[in-house]
This record gives sequence, structure tokens and C-alpha cells, in this order.
Amino acid sequence: MQLRYNYRAYPTPGQQIELARAFGCARVVFNDGLRLRRQAREAGEKYVSDGELSRRLITEAKATPERAWLGEVSAVVLQQALADLNTAYRNFFASVTGKRKGRKVALPRFRSRKDNRQAIRFTKNARFKVLDNSRLRLPKIGDLAVRWSRTLPSDPSSVTIIKDAAGRYFASFVVQTKDEPLPETDSEVGIDLGLTHFAVLSDGTKVTAPKFLRRAARKLKRLQQDLSRKQKGSANRKKAVVKVARAHARVVDTRRDWQHKLSTTIIRENQAVYVEDLCVTGLSRTRLAKSVHDAGWASFTAMLECKAARYGRTFARVDRFFPSTRMCSDCGRINNKMALNVRSWDCPCGSHHDRDVNAAINVRAAGQADLNARGAHVRPASVPAAHREAGTHPDAARSTRSVEGISVL
Ligand SMILES: [Zn+2]
Repeated sequence: MQLRYNYRAYPTPGQQIELARAFGCARVVFNDGLRLRRQAREAGEKYVSDGELSRRLITEAKATPERAWLGEVSAVVLQQALADLNTAYRNFFASVTGKRKGRKVALPRFRSRKDNRQAIRFTKNARFKVLDNSRLRLPKIGDLAVRWSRTLPSDPSSVTIIKDAAGRYFASFVVQTKDEPLPETDSEVGIDLGLTHFAVLSDGTKVTAPKFLRRAARKLKRLQQDLSRKQKGSANRKKAVVKVARAHARVVDTRRDWQHKLSTTIIRENQAVYVEDLCVTGLSRTRLAKSVHDAGWASFTAMLECKAARYGRTFARVDRFFPSTRMCSDCGRINNKMALNVRSWDCPCGSHHDRDVNAAINVRAAGQADLNARGAHVRPASVPAAHREAGTHPDAARSTRSVEGISVL
């Protein structure tokens, strides 16, 4: 599996100038490629191939006076900029023809000097190197100081140097890692991602975003309000923009660290993890948008999925149309819809339910039932050993046939 390892980098003022030059050259080559393909399309000519793009915009362009300065940066950086463009086109075509699922992908856009994120990529061909003195050697840039917050597990295949909106630099390495299956455990968990709590687990655990994260989010909100009151084009506005960018970066970093810890714990303690597929893009169009984005569920479930694959656990999403909230986890009866402020309820069968814990138990049952129903004929190698409770647990009796709309994506 490929994993990313990110570290802060601290280029000297001289190296920052070289990096700015490389960001600029990569941007120009990317935009030249986009322009050439657009012109070819408008003129009714055939699609300019990847090879021809590289020959005309890098090799031949360097020989012209207008683009001679491209020779001042690593050729790999320029080739990787075109590789990004080619990937963007391929994603667009795959999306148009329906080969790529999910949200529609638009045609690539021109890159700007004002973009919040500037990035260049070095591959092995560029011969970047982590030196014995722990600096990162980049061709035509120099030896960068990097804060190695954790060790790289093996030789990286590429490194991307990023400058974010807050003016910080990062070195992001792609590393090929081996799977490290954890010892098997019996417990399985369903997770309900809610609004009152960040997550509620089927074992009754309720996870709330920690105070320091909420405090950072409140500070960001205040700075954003300050910014909105500043006059356009004023020096004070510029200062406020930087403050917001810094506060935003802090919230994002803090949330990511916290989610990493939480997802690692859940994956370690459970053999299988089931979550409701919330289709966050659909939800976020409603008035719940703000809380949805703040909560960052999409990144959290992505972490769970990635870690499950790495540590030999099962991860599955349960269809979002499945009525997990109003179905009684004891008798299976589907009750009436409930307002958001109803936190607990009673089923006619006599069971008393905490709204979110009940939903999490249902998510777990739905995930288990579906894996059991499909397990026999769907890629047996990737399905875990038979579930301990299969056949005896009342939940397992609810297969996909008895409850509509359950599916593991
Ligand atoms: Zn009931």
C-alpha cells in the first residue's frame, strides 16, 4: 500500500527563492499544456498526446528565448507538472464516460500564482536524497532542513514540496509499505456519525471532539468575522487574511492528529468496523452544512478504511437510506420518524433506546448481515473468517433480503 508521510520543511531565504522559481516554472508548463490542448480542440485537431506535449513544452521550449529559463529548474519537476495535467484530463474523460464513479470531474483549470497551494513533485529520477545529516537534498534547490516528526519506514518513491496559504512549507513523501496484520480480535463495531457527538459506537462509547479542537475552531470563526469587516484591498485586510490562514491550518492539523489517534484505536480494538455512508456531499447542501464540514467525517472514515486495509481488518459502509435511527435494534420494528432533538425513545416492544447508540448497533448489524449474505461468493480472500455470531445472533437473521436498501459499498 502507498502511504503519505508529511513533514514541515524550513527552506532558507535563498532556497525559498529557488522554490518560488520552481513553483512558477511548473505552473507555466502546466498552463502551456492546458492552453495547447484547448486550442487544438477549438481548432478541431486531435488530442495532443502526452509525449508530444512533453517534447514541445519542455524539450523544444527550452531552446526558445521566451522559455529558456525553464532550464533553471529540475526537468523532473516540469515533467511531473505535465503528468498532473494528464491525470486531470484522464479523470475528466473517465468521469464523462461514466468509468469513474462519484462527483463529476470538471476539465482542468489554469493554475495561478495566487492559488492557496503551490506544489512541485520530485520522483526517483530526480535523484532527491535524504542525507546523513538529515537534510533533504533537492536538485537545483539545495539541502532543506526538515523536521522529522517520525521516521520514514522505507525508501520514498517521490517527494512533493508544498507551500500552503499560511506560508508554511511541507515535504510530503510517498512510501510503499507492507501490510501489517494485527492479531485477530472478536469484537466488531458499528459507528453512528452524529451532530451532537462526533461519533457514537455500538458499544455505547460517545466520542466528542476535544475541547482544544473546539476552542481552535471558535478562534478561527472569530478571525473570519474580523476579516469580513476589513475593507477590500486594505493593508489590515492582508494581515487578517494571513491570520485566518494560520488559524485554519491549525484547526486542520489538530483535527487530523486527533482523528488519526481515534481511528487507530478503533481499528486496533475491533476486527470489523461498519459506518453509515452519509454521502457527505448530499448532506452538506442542507442547512447542516456547517456542522458537517466542521466534523470532518469524510476524512475520518477514509482513515478508518485505509487503516483497516493495512492492519487486516474489515471496513464497510452501510447504505445511507437504511433507517438506522428509527429501527429498534432489539425487535427490528421500524418506528416513526423522529425530530433531531429526540435523544432517546421507547419501542412498543418495551426496549428503551439511546438514539445514537441504537443507530450504531443497527449499523453494525446491517454491515454484518450484508457481509454474511455476500461473503460466500464475493472474493473469499478479502472476507474475514466466519463471524463468530453468524446464525445465532438475532441481528444476523436480518439479511439484505429482509431489510431493504442495505449494501456494503
Ligand atoms: Zn423494539
